[in-house]
Amino acid sequence: MQISGYLYALIICSGLTLSVPALKSANDTPALLLVSFDGFRADYLNKYSFPNLEKFFSDGVLVHELTNVFTTKTFPNHYSLVTGLYAESHGMLASIMYDPVSKRHFSIKNDSDPFWWNEATPIWVSVEKNGYRAAAAMWPGTDVKIQNHTLKYKYEYDSKVPFEERLGNLTQWMTMDRSVKFATLYWEEPDWSGHKYGPENTTEMTKVLREVDNHIGFLIEQLNKTGLWGKINVIITSDHGMAQCAKERLIKLNDCISPNSYTVVDLTPVAAIIPLQDNSTIYKKLSSCHDHMKAYLKDDVPDRLHYKNNERIQPIILVADEGWTIVKNGSLPRLGDHGYDNTLPSMHPFLAAHGPAFRKGYRMSSFNSVDLYPLMCHLIGIAPEANNGSFAHVRCALVNEQCGELALAVGIVIGVLIILTTFTCLFKLMKNRDASSRPFARLELDDDADDEPLLE
Ligand SMILES: [Zn+2]
Repeated sequence: MQISGYLYALIICSGLTLSVPALKSANDTPALLLVSFDGFRADYLNKYSFPNLEKFFSDGVLVHELTNVFTTKTFPNHYSLVTGLYAESHGMLASIMYDPVSKRHFSIKNDSDPFWWNEATPIWVSVEKNGYRAAAAMWPGTDVKIQNHTLKYKYEYDSKVPFEERLGNLTQWMTMDRSVKFATLYWEEPDWSGHKYGPENTTEMTKVLREVDNHIGFLIEQLNKTGLWGKINVIITSDHGMAQCAKERLIKLNDCISPNSYTVVDLTPVAAIIPLQDNSTIYKKLSSCHDHMKAYLKDDVPDRLHYKNNERIQPIILVADEGWTIVKNGSLPRLGDHGYDNTLPSMHPFLAAHGPAFRKGYRMSSFNSVDLYPLMCHLIGIAPEANNGSFAHVRCALVNEQCGELALAVGIVIGVLIILTTFTCLFKLMKNRDASSRPFARLELDDDADDEPLLE
């Protein structure tokens, strides 16, 4: 305790700052562009070639893996990236949902009812409430009237709009209107190909990942052409990875329970089940249904998954092991899938960043995808809403943070302490040695003391 107090005092005395530097004024704050390539599994970076992406992060930051949120599906994770909340907190829990109170249904093809989005405030709404503009090209939710707020610069979702057109409009909005401080872009690949061919199909994945890298090349070129490259901050990331599935790894629910005894809201790899009979009877049957599937009553879902505190979570949740597919009684629907446990590396995406706020050539092994939200709020200079992320986890990626300097300062302080302690010990030793070299000194003093009473 004494040492840490001493360290703290020395750091304070030395004038080193532990906290974040003051935010820049509104006009100086560079804009932020957030790009998602859906289903970009982190280890694609080790297995395939990405000359343009490497150019992007060689002069910026690379985070090898993000720990995303459960369920590792597209909508829950895209909403977590822009709210900093776990799925149970923002309410976007899966690709297919049912709300038992309002009796409403949600699917990715029927997603425009604000009801499903209003449990959280995404960053683009906060940006506009702070007096700036936001611009969006297809990021999930940006075309929905969330918190009674509609974006002026936005696209209605249309998968046929090419990447170049999505980005071209964003850069036009950003250069035309300097109040645009946040822009976001979504692209459907490599998710689409990962589902269709499976991530282990290297021939097809090589093709699609080359296309993705070409899009990143176009992005660099377009930002250069419009004078934005190096002036704005750019983050490229994804929502989840992809696991290889196989027809030999099927879990058939109808082999375990009667088709008339349950309703399925969402099916695989995380099934949401509403029993039509006694919950515990159905739960018991599902618990012993298959070695590669876990069954949970809603209240017993492990805390680490942050997936029980919401009305939209159904009474029984089934979670398949990596690469296994849950069906009612059918055949394998796709060769690649995601949604599995968010601790699996195959479910993790990566993150890369470039721009004036970021260090150059900096590498981080990992952080949580919910940490991105406080980082983005910091970059834009707005106060974050309550969230599950931590700015402390990501701050070292920023050039203005004192990470390296602080480590050096602590090293210097520890060095000074060691030297001071050594000198103090040496001084004491020498003093004792002086005393012991005069064997009669104490005796002499004692003699003086003994003399005193005689003087009285
Ligand atoms: Zn996705």
